[in-house]
Amino acid sequence: MILLTNNEGTVGAPTTARHLADGQDALDAIEAGIKLIEADPTVRTVGRGGWPNLLGEVELDACVMHGTTLRTGAVGALKGFLHPVSVAREVMRRLPHELLVGEGAARFAREIGGEPADNLIPDSKRAWQAWFDAELTPTQKHAWPDIPLVELCRHAIDPEIGRDTTVFLAQDAGGDICSGTSTSGWGWKYPGRLGDSPIIGAGSYADTRYGAAACTGAGEMTLRCCTARSIVLYLKKGASVVDAVHEAVDDMRHLQGGLISRVTIHAIDAKANHKVVAVNGTGENTYWLWHQGEAAPTSLRAEPIVITSVATKPTAGARYAR
Ligand code: ASP
Repeated sequence: MILLTNNEGTVGAPTTARHLADGQDALDAIEAGIKLIEADPTVRTVGRGGWPNLLGEVELDACVMHGTTLRTGAVGALKGFLHPVSVAREVMRRLPHELLVGEGAARFAREIGGEPADNLIPDSKRAWQAWFDAELTPTQKHAWPDIPLVELCRHAIDPEIGRDTTVFLAQDAGGDICSGTSTSGWGWKYPGRLGDSPIIGAGSYADTRYGAAACTGAGEMTLRCCTARSIVLYLKKGASVVDAVHEAVDDMRHLQGGLISRVTIHAIDAKANHKVVAVNGTGENTYWLWHQGEAAPTSLRAEPIVITSVATKPTAGARYAR
């Protein structure tokens, strides 16, 4: 048994570990942990308390995968519900589909009795309003929201705050390996933007035979490399979990143009080995690890790897979110 989750998973990790120790199914244990994070308004990048998009709306993404059946469930750009991870789980349970987005996802969430929530907490509203007041011209404010947002989108590229995700990878007592993710994506993102977190194979992937992987950071990079699926495929082809992750990092070195920023990669194999690397990270990225028999998850530091230089100048969105 193993649980691997990122620093954003702090408030959920002990619960997930306890459920695994009690013999619960990995997906149930993961969902229970992620729900605690989604409901915690002090976690500013997941669920309630997540940063809003350019229009000041909180759009949430989540995904789950059951590595034995290879069934997945995901929601993207979901507005107005507290637990995107549970809506994603119900997509898996109740539909012949794997991914719902936007209005369709909200309709489904209503249909299944998902818990409604106003995820824009007062501090997020304040930060967005401060940005709006200071950065938009009088003409833009007058015409709002019927103005082009493309130029304003530069405020979304924020290396320090406004982006992160929680990712959980677990193997339960029965040997099943599952994954789960949940995020508000980038603060000040273009409305409707999906990152890697709801996209299976990019932001997460699980296969009970080999292992699982999940990513945080610039989803634009892992979408282009299908990072999570690639790692599991490298495991299938015989790589160790360390080599599989390094191979996936090497794939990123070939990205040309587009956004090159930070990505943290988390991976486990079916023998409960793990590897976490922080690509272009600060050297201070931490994660939580728990194995069968341990009293509680332990915080460890990811291996930093630099693949190219990234801009670190805070953007407008970053300033107002402080
Ligand atoms: N990977 C997430 C996304 O691209 C955000 C993050 O983890 O920072 O939406």
